[in-house]
Amino acid sequence: MTYIPPNKIEGKATALLDKVGIKAPAISVDRIAKALDATIEYSKLENALSGLVFLGSDRPIIGINSRHHKNRQRFSIAHEIGHIVLHAAQIGKDVHVDRGFTVMRRDTRSAQGIDVLEIQANRFAAALLMPRAFLEQSLQDDGIDIDDEEAVADLAKTYAVSRSAMQIRLASLFT
Ligand SMILES: [Zn+2]
Repeated sequence: MTYIPPNKIEGKATALLDKVGIKAPAISVDRIAKALDATIEYSKLENALSGLVFLGSDRPIIGINSRHHKNRQRFSIAHEIGHIVLHAAQIGKDVHVDRGFTVMRRDTRSAQGIDVLEIQANRFAAALLMPRAFLEQSLQDDGIDIDDEEAVADLAKTYAVSRSAMQIRLASLFT
């Protein structure tokens, strides 16, 4: 099994942001992909597919479902970047396909240890798009109460993430 402690995943996301020189939200996933020499391809995939990643050629290729909302596309890109950073060895030359992050066939997926990779990639994506240090700054600057739904919605807009992604991130960091 390939357990990576959550703080190590946060650290890897932060290191990548530092390396690319990103200092403010909304995080440019395009710049990060470019720094990793990864290409992003957008196509109309079936609705259940959010994205995929292929590491079997010279450069990583990320595929994204162009039918999905922009914020969801950004989360999917960050998720696939997580796979590139964390899981090159496990994915190997396979095409790794992501079918919606909430609907997982736990029976077969757990047995193959896939859930762990998905949880780690999601954790990385949240840390990349909503870095702890950036959020601490935002909360301090704007004096935001994380129970204030309108303030959280504004914050989600600033970071170009969905409201629920922001809510989950704030809860996991600050409650
Ligand atoms: Zn995945």
